[in-house]
Amino acid sequence: MPNTPFIVGNWKMHGLSEAVAVAGTIARESRTASARLALCPPATLLSRLSVALKDEGHIELGGQDCHYQDQGAFTGDISAAMLRDAGAGLVLLGHSERRHGHKEPCSQVALKVKAALKAGLEPMICVGETLAERESGRTHEVLRRQLRDSLPEELEGKCFHVSYEPVWAIGTGLIATDDQIRDAFALIGKVLTRRFQGQVVPHLLYGGSVKPENAGHLLTLEGVGGLLVGGASLKAQDFLSIIRSAEQAVA
Ligand code: PEP
Repeated sequence: MPNTPFIVGNWKMHGLSEAVAVAGTIARESRTASARLALCPPATLLSRLSVALKDEGHIELGGQDCHYQDQGAFTGDISAAMLRDAGAGLVLLGHSERRHGHKEPCSQVALKVKAALKAGLEPMICVGETLAERESGRTHEVLRRQLRDSLPEELEGKCFHVSYEPVWAIGTGLIATDDQIRDAFALIGKVLTRRFQGQVVPHLLYGGSVKPENAGHLLTLEGVGGLLVGGASLKAQDFLSIIRSAEQAVA
């Protein structure tokens, strides 16, 4: 696992023109950060952020989803190549808001991963169990299945990332316990090492109600190599303080 933490902000469906200035503040005030940093704004802001941040090479940009086809009659969708063309270097795939809100099965996530690779984007694949799945003792089964069916063979030898996001912790203020996180990361690490032997182990991120107060601690937990931050990445000072805590935690 790389030593440098990877801190990624997912703006979801938030952000109008004023948000360009928020990204500018984040970029300006994180210039000396050694962590790897990325922002995933809504697709409408990608090109604008790409222009606004062109001199801030330390902040990468990502998409929040893509279609699995290169192009075609898919009204309202966006292809991986379009994201790349708009300035993205990575793309979130299989976020729970896509898996559950848009009923995306693992097989579709896997097709999207292939499309992302083809377009030259690094995929960040999200996995995580619902509360009902956890409470019925099926967390391992769900994570194994999502990893098996959402990660295509084409990832072999490629740079990619996996984010563990318990669905019940996303946007709820609830956070998984240290033991729950350690247990999930141990399982994910084992499954990935077995499947992608000899390959640089990807960044494994945690997501779910990450805040300035818990970010540093989360990064001290074994296996946690980065954070996927939703709500708290919308406010420049909160995201910056998460970045600072992350750096202190691994110093
Ligand atoms: C997310 O968007 O992936 C997320 C984890 O959201 P939040 O930090 O708001 O829980």
